[in-house]
Order: sequence, then C-alpha cells, then structure tokens
Amino acid sequence: MKALRSVILFFSLIGIAVSSSCDKNGDFLIFSVQNDIDLGEKIAEQIANDPSFDILSREQYPISYAYIESMVEDILSSEDITFKDEFTWRINIINDPSDGPVLNAFATPGGQLYVHTGLIYFLDKEDDLAGVLGHEIAHSDQRHGSKQLQRQYGISLLLSIISGGDGSTLEQIAGQVAGTGAILAFSRDAEAEADDYSVRYLASTDYACNGAAAFFEKLLRNEEQFQPEFLSTHPSPENRVEDINARATELNCDTSIDENSALRYVNFRNSLP
Ligand SMILES: [Zn+2]
Repeated sequence: MKALRSVILFFSLIGIAVSSSCDKNGDFLIFSVQNDIDLGEKIAEQIANDPSFDILSREQYPISYAYIESMVEDILSSEDITFKDEFTWRINIINDPSDGPVLNAFATPGGQLYVHTGLIYFLDKEDDLAGVLGHEIAHSDQRHGSKQLQRQYGISLLLSIISGGDGSTLEQIAGQVAGTGAILAFSRDAEAEADDYSVRYLASTDYACNGAAAFFEKLLRNEEQFQPEFLSTHPSPENRVEDINARATELNCDTSIDENSALRYVNFRNSLP
C-alpha cells in the first residue's frame, strides 16, 4: 500500500500547480520574483527541520550530489528557462525508508527541488530522471506554485510567512508542497505545461528530450501493482506519454538514448544509501 500511496502523491504533487485557466479568469501574480525565492527558502527550512524528511547530506554523499547537480545544470542551460540566474535551483535528495519508497519529486517557488530516493530507484536511466527534473524545474520557473499559493492563501498571508510570521501556515504549506498534507488541487493545464517544458528543456541537452515519458510508461507497465483507478485519474499517464512524445516529434528533438545512460544511472543509484 505504501507504493500505492506514493503513486497518489506523485500524481497529486509532482508539482504544485495552477491552471492557466486561472490566468484566463483574470488572476495575476502580485508575488514578486524575490518573493518566490524567499518563500521557497522558508519552505526549504521547514522541510529541513522536519524529521519526517531525511535529506541526504551533501558532505556525506558528494558523488550523488555531484551527479544530480550536474544534471540540473544541464537542464538549466536551456534558453527556455526564465529565472536561471534569479532562482536558487538547489536540488535535495530525500532518503526514503527501505519499506516506504515514495515515487515523488517536487519543487517550491524559487527553485528548491526535491527528489525522493524511491523515485530515483524506480527509474532506469538518466534520461528518465532528467525528464522528471525538467518537469519540476518548469513548475518553479513558470511560477505555478506561487500562483497557486497566492490564490489559496492570499498575498498578505504569504508575505507575513516570508517575514517570519505565521509558522503554522508555513508548516501547512510545506506539508502541502512536499505531499504530506492536504492534497492540492492541481490542474491538467499546469501539468501539461510542465511536461511540455520538460521536452523543450531537454531538447537542448544530451538527454532524450522525451525523458519525462519514461516514468509514466513504467507506471503503465507495472499497472498490476497499482490500482487502475489511480492510473485512470486525470491527467492520465497514457495521455501524458502521448503528449510528451507528440511534443518531441513536433520539436524534432533527439529521443535516442545514449548507450551508457543506464550504466551511469546505475552508478548514481549505487552511490546512494
Ligand atoms: Zn507536475
């Protein structure tokens, strides 16, 4: 059931999201770029101080971090990143207990990125992880999270959190972002946009540009382990695979897999606890 819960979390919280329909409805972002960064740092502090998250230390796992940081750098080299120089772009690896892998990755406003070891172990090659990270980077860079949080909490409450007030709401937001609290309503539009940007980002790297499809393909291959209801909830993995591959075709970007991709990825996984 742990795995099942993980999948629910993944679908709900692969990123905190807002619909572009929100924009169509006339909402706009009052939050500044610096507010995104500051709020992301507050959420990161909250997560770091939460004993339920075992964040791997950079000092103890320098090889693991060198690998994944270089992957993030590769993705950030894309010209489609708006806030490359402004946002924090710090990747953290959350070490899951062996009996409770979590198939999740998430991003805060301002570019604090998180990936669970459960997800790292679930994937098979570096293109797959790059695809997921591209998706998360897009949620930060497209400011999906801050739009969602602004709509949900209002600007004044968020600003009071940034200035150090209202710890309980910060705790709630951090839990929400990290997938331990209330499940956020997320939109098909925001997820589709993040998938789309993942392809665009990876198009300028050596990774297969449709890397983000691999997670969903593997979920579908392992469908018997998961309740079909969750695979059929929106947005459906089938559609996401199709859309990601269609985007790759449209961009005419390279989807070939380097012959050593899986080997390098296994080495990375072996560097983890
Ligand atoms: Zn997402």
